[in-house]
Amino acid sequence: MDIREYCRPKSIEEAYELLCSEGAAIIGGGAFLNLGDRQLSKAVDIGDLDLSFIKEDESRVEIGAASTLRDIELNDITRQAFEGVLSKTAASIMGVQLRNVATLGGTIYGKYGFSDMITTLLALNAQVELYKAGAMSLESYLNREHEKDIILKVSIEKEVTKVFYEGVRKTGTDFSMLNAAAAMVDGEFRLCIGSRPGRAKLAKGAMNFLNGIDSAKGSAGIAAILASEELTFGTDARASDTYRKELCKTLVRHCVTEVLE
Ligand SMILES: Cc1cc2nc3c(=O)[nH]c(=O)nc-3n(C[C@H](O)[C@H](O)[C@H](O)COP(=O)(O)OP(=O)(O)OC[C@H]3O[C@@H](n4cnc5c(N)ncnc54)[C@H](O)[C@@H]3O)c2cc1C
Repeated sequence: MDIREYCRPKSIEEAYELLCSEGAAIIGGGAFLNLGDRQLSKAVDIGDLDLSFIKEDESRVEIGAASTLRDIELNDITRQAFEGVLSKTAASIMGVQLRNVATLGGTIYGKYGFSDMITTLLALNAQVELYKAGAMSLESYLNREHEKDIILKVSIEKEVTKVFYEGVRKTGTDFSMLNAAAAMVDGEFRLCIGSRPGRAKLAKGAMNFLNGIDSAKGSAGIAAILASEELTFGTDARASDTYRKELCKTLVRHCVTEVLE
C-alpha cells in the first residue's frame, strides 16, 4: 500500500468529504489494505470518530465499525448476548495480533468470501448502518455494488433464541475451508454457509424447509442435503468443490441440530 496523504478527520462529514476525492479510502485496521499494492491518494483514518463501541439496550446490540475483532471477542456484551456466538466467531479468526487491529467495518466492507464474521452476522440477521445510504440488512448490503460510503455500525436485534456457528480449518490460523451458522430469529430459522470459497449465503431452500416442519426429527439431515444442493462450491488451495459440498452437509447437520435442540 502506498499512501500519498494520511488524514485523521474529526467528524463523519469531514471523513466522507475526504473519502469522495479520487483514490481515497477509509482505513480501518489497515490489515487487509496493507496486503495489497493499492495507491491511496488519501488514507482516511476513522480512529477519531467515536466508532469504537459495543453497547446494548433492551432490544438490540450495536457494534461500532471501528471495533476490533479482539474487542468483540473480549467484551462482556458480545460474550453474553446471542450465546456468545459473536465472541466465539471472532476468537476463531487468525491470531491475537490480527484481531487487535482488524475492524468490524473493514470486515463488512470487504465482503470477503472467507469471512467467518459475515457468516455469523448473516445468520443473526444483522443490520448495517452507512453514513450516506442509511440502514439496511447485511444481506442487502452484501448484494449491493460497492459505493463510496462509511460503515458506521452493525446492529443485531435481540430476537435470537438459539444460534450456533462452526468453521473447519486445516490449521488454527488458516481461512476456513467452509463455515456455517444457524439461528432462530423471531421464530424463523436462518442458515448461512460461507467460505464456499465464495461469499457467505443464506441457504433459503433449507430455511424454507426448516420453517415449515412440524417435528424436528430427521430434519437436520434433510436440511443438510437441501443446503448442499442449492449452494455452489468452488475449488481452491484449501479444498475441492466436492469436499466442500460434503463438508456442508456435516456443518449444516451440526448447526441445525444445535439450534433445534
Ligand atoms: C492475513 C489475514 C488473515 C485473515 N483471516 C481471516 C479469517 O480467517 N477469517 C475472517 O473472517 N477474516 C480474516 N481476515 C480478515 C479480517 O478479519 C478483516 O476482515 C480484514 O483485516 C479487514 O479489516 P481491517 O480493519 O483490517 O480493514 P482495512 O484493511 O483497514 O480495510 C479493508 C477495506 O475496508 C474499507 N473499510 C474499512 N473500514 C471501513 C468503514 N468503516 N467504512 C467503509 N469502508 C471501510 C477499506 O477502505 C478497505 O477497502 C484476515 C485478514 C488478514 C490480513
